[in-house]
Amino acid sequence: MTGAVFSRAAGRDLPVVAGGRGTELFDTSGRRYLDAAGGAIVVGIGHGSAEVADAIATQAREVAYVHGSAFKSTALEGYAEMLGPLLPVDDPYIYPVSGGSEAVETALKLARAYHLARGEDRSVVIGRTGAYHGNTRGALSVSGRDGLRAPYLPWLGTAAHTTSPYEYRCPFPDSHPYGCGARHAQALEQEIVAQGPHNVAAFIAEPIAGAALGACVPPDDYWPAMTAVCRRYGVLVIADEVMTGFGRTGRWFGCDHWGVRPDLLVAAKGAASGYWPLGLAVTSGEVHDTVQRAGFVHGFTYSHHAVGAAAGLAVLKILSRDGLVDASARRGEQLGAELRAELADHPHVGDIRGRGLLWAVELVADRETKVPFARNERMAERIAAAAKDRGVLLYHSTGCANGSEGDLLVFGPPLVISPAEVTEVVTGTAAAIREVSRVRPS
Ligand code: PLP
Repeated sequence: MTGAVFSRAAGRDLPVVAGGRGTELFDTSGRRYLDAAGGAIVVGIGHGSAEVADAIATQAREVAYVHGSAFKSTALEGYAEMLGPLLPVDDPYIYPVSGGSEAVETALKLARAYHLARGEDRSVVIGRTGAYHGNTRGALSVSGRDGLRAPYLPWLGTAAHTTSPYEYRCPFPDSHPYGCGARHAQALEQEIVAQGPHNVAAFIAEPIAGAALGACVPPDDYWPAMTAVCRRYGVLVIADEVMTGFGRTGRWFGCDHWGVRPDLLVAAKGAASGYWPLGLAVTSGEVHDTVQRAGFVHGFTYSHHAVGAAAGLAVLKILSRDGLVDASARRGEQLGAELRAELADHPHVGDIRGRGLLWAVELVADRETKVPFARNERMAERIAAAAKDRGVLLYHSTGCANGSEGDLLVFGPPLVISPAEVTEVVTGTAAAIREVSRVRPS
């Protein structure tokens, strides 16, 4: 018996990837794919950067690994120095880890450690319905996706959930669209009171919901109202910027759209653009100083990895030098406008939404009632497969409040995408939607 890869694509005949350049991927048969999803909304600077590969190789040749308790590292110090001023966090301290879930776990522990250091035994973290924060147990506890959580409920920690600002399926339709932010803040306050204000350690949310719920941009009054409630009850704000960070939404961080200053921020994906498994938990100076005074015991073998820092630094330099954050805003406007022009009238397109280069198309069986397709129709999955046949790679997901129903096509191409490639993504997607939605199972 030979070894085999334990893969979620088991049994499917997938092409073998041979290489990538910019927005393009090639398989071993020479076929080209336009990557409109950056894998899982990961690749910001584009595929095949020799510059990042060289930075990784140089650091690995110099020294790949030392333990963080024994040495400082020039790569890490340099990375923190360049990244610090770009972060929407006061006096930021950066804790590098190996991915988004590890970063979320770290932030959750930091939140509890912060309160314990101040003599408060707060353990509840409030997440949002339908949200996704990772697959480890703490991250899954604060996620609001029923299907993912259900099998592991006995293992999940002390979390509660509040409403998500999901305009298309707004839980407060009577206040829609103005005043929704205040209603969400009211719901958060009610949840804090129900849990007992002295039990609630933190509120965790994506500034703009990413693939989970599909690029939901909150109303402008949402973040100011939510942070005001958190401050009133001494609840820390954790911004999950795993998907929205590093230029994805047309600003360096999603928080920047509303001037949000979280106490803790987590990032990953675009941080090293997929060249290295890098995640970051960032604390404010105040959280850092408080937990350090008390002694924060935490760590992973691969946290503070010098090669990860070298990769992150190289990616940061490219994002800055090539103006890719502004490019994300510009190309994003084009992507949104072309998706709307091409698809707004389609009978199965319920909503088209997004910001920067993070967009989603929500598909519905009926536009009037917004009823989703039955799960067994696998509509988004089949459309993504049809788009792939046309050489366009999309990400697909479920939405609909609890994150377990519905069909979302999610767009998150590398920020280097050209105007012509944006058009190619839209025409390929529209053709796939028309083809698949015409043939409905009886
Ligand atoms: N948080 C958000 C918003 C995410 O989108 C993801 C992954 O998709 C995670 C956390 C978990 O990150 P990772 O898959 O790197 O563990």
